[in-house]
Amino acid sequence: MAKTLEEIRAELGDCTRCELCETRTTVVFGVGNPQAEVMFIGEAPGRQEDLGAEPFIGAAGKYLNELLALAGLERKDVYIANVLKCRPPGNADPLPHQIETCTPFLREQVRSIKPLILVTLGRFASQFILKTDSGITHLRGQVHITGRYSVLPIYHPAAALYDQAKKPLLEHDFKLLKLLIEKRHEEMEK
Ligand code: SF4
Repeated sequence: MAKTLEEIRAELGDCTRCELCETRTTVVFGVGNPQAEVMFIGEAPGRQEDLGAEPFIGAAGKYLNELLALAGLERKDVYIANVLKCRPPGNADPLPHQIETCTPFLREQVRSIKPLILVTLGRFASQFILKTDSGITHLRGQVHITGRYSVLPIYHPAAALYDQAKKPLLEHDFKLLKLLIEKRHEEMEK
């Protein structure tokens, strides 16, 4: 039987399983609706998230809220977590051993929430969930089926803040997410 989010959080505790515990301020577990149909998986906490103990609370979070509206969603509807629960210093890329050590907890969160759709934000989350080496440019904007989940890889909203060319693509993908939600609902009604 799947654990509850509270049980998973308690098991994670004040985690010291990898070296990121030495430089983080807080463990950023994840936040949102424990019965969300749509779960977003990002890369790792940034500076603001590390201080605020919540994913997507900085400028990228504000932009994510705008994008969610395109899919007919609000923050309260979804659950958001990251591949890594502690901030890598200087927002460095997650290292393979960090991903291996931290992601059993993310897997437990997915099992607990049982979303219909996983939206993976950026390269690391997309490659981890889809078990692929393909780049995000290749993966994004296409729906993949993994077990019981529909997986939609998209650019990380933070990347679009630095590269405006990604904004129309992200907006396209959130409209696609809206259609995907409708399709999954129709399938459930059959
Ligand atoms: S990144 Fe994950 S495994 Fe490493 S210390 Fe933080 S919670 Fe633990």
